[in-house]
Amino acid sequence: MNAELQADRAALADTVRRFAENEIAPNVQAWDDAGEFPRALYTRAAELGLLGLSYPEELGGTPASYSLKLPAWVALARHGKSGGVLASLFSHNIGLPPVVLHGSDAVRREVVPPVLRGEKIAALAITEPGGGSDVAALRTTARRESGGGGGSDGDHYVVNGEKTFITSGMRADWITVAVRTGEGRGAGGISMLLVPGDTPGLSRTRLAKMGWLCSDTAALHFDNVRVPARYLLGDEGAGFRMVMGNFNGERIGLAAGALGFAQACLDEALAWARERKTFGHALIEHQAVRHKLVDMQMRIASTEAWIEAVSTEGDALEAAGRFNAPEWVAQICMLKNHATQTMQFCADQAVQILGGMGFMRGTVSERIYREVKVMMIGGGAEEIMKELAARQMGW
Ligand SMILES: Cc1cc2nc3c(=O)[nH]c(=O)nc-3n(C[C@H](O)[C@H](O)[C@H](O)COP(=O)(O)OP(=O)(O)OC[C@H]3O[C@@H](n4cnc5c(N)ncnc54)[C@H](O)[C@@H]3O)c2cc1C
Repeated sequence: MNAELQADRAALADTVRRFAENEIAPNVQAWDDAGEFPRALYTRAAELGLLGLSYPEELGGTPASYSLKLPAWVALARHGKSGGVLASLFSHNIGLPPVVLHGSDAVRREVVPPVLRGEKIAALAITEPGGGSDVAALRTTARRESGGGGGSDGDHYVVNGEKTFITSGMRADWITVAVRTGEGRGAGGISMLLVPGDTPGLSRTRLAKMGWLCSDTAALHFDNVRVPARYLLGDEGAGFRMVMGNFNGERIGLAAGALGFAQACLDEALAWARERKTFGHALIEHQAVRHKLVDMQMRIASTEAWIEAVSTEGDALEAAGRFNAPEWVAQICMLKNHATQTMQFCADQAVQILGGMGFMRGTVSERIYREVKVMMIGGGAEEIMKELAARQMGW
């Protein structure tokens, strides 16, 4: 790694750490209790340049390599200590890429800059009540109608169906929705359509969850929702490939987050083990406890090294114009599983080391313990990651 990149990484990670320590961590418990965090956090993250990281300059972003941005995600997770904040504050990172890559110039300019300024919120809606893993089986329809239809709105799609478990689903101003267009069956019939959040016929239901309590997860109901045809992203029938390509960025981000949360658990457990005394000694002086801490650090170190390797390879592949190379996609799938297992192990061990205190609301480890499962399910569940990795490796 060259000296310039090293300096940029350190500076960015430091900015993120200060933001997370001062403006997220002290408020997380109150936000979890309230079931949401203030919208002002979006504009604050935008001011620091965090919402625009890795977006084109002409749309108000700052291009960033994986090697630059992933340490920032790790730091956000480690020092912010809340998956709920990260999931909603950065839901545009799964909602916007299809717009940036496949939207018309006019749509990109209309939609992307206000989101990167923190004024609007973007979300991605793929999962349906009938299932999330089998994307090719989704049932929400978008029927194209030309002109007429009661007005001057020209060509449009009429959307009917239901999405569920959608992050930022209650507040999103723009929702990138996977729909079935035309007569196409299976993967070939899927398209991506951007739906303005205030379109009549779209309604939302807040969902109660095990963790990510301050994140607004929702079910979305589409009842004859009329969407102008210019909001179709790319071609009709090209949506499945977009969804699959989009998952790579989401999965690397989840892996980086999982690493940060594992570190947050170790930080808390280590501090507790140094302070808490049993049988006349600090916990850390008991070999069984010390070994737990080492087992945590061992998994954290391997996850950190793997994320570094996948970032470096991703940057090199992109520089060579080789996006979504199968061997790299396989690495991402396995990395997501490894990182989330590291998080699971560390959360479990940390709660154990904290003893009864680890079961109490208000400790970091208790919150992260409740946030483990969504990391192992969301963005592609563990079993699906294994299947995809095997296929990408030609097995
Ligand atoms: C808090 C939260 C936020 C989310 N945010 C979003 C969002 O913003 N946008 C969005 O579109 N979705 C979102 N999701 C949905 C998430 O991506 C899905 O939950 C996930 O893809 C799994 O889909 P499913 O829940 O329908 O499980 P299913 O697909 O029904 O699978 C159930 C279980 O069976 C396993 N399984 C399925 N098929 C196989 C197989 N062939 N072999 C072995 N095992 C299998 C799965 O791995 C899983 O463990 C979110 C979910 C949660 C919990």
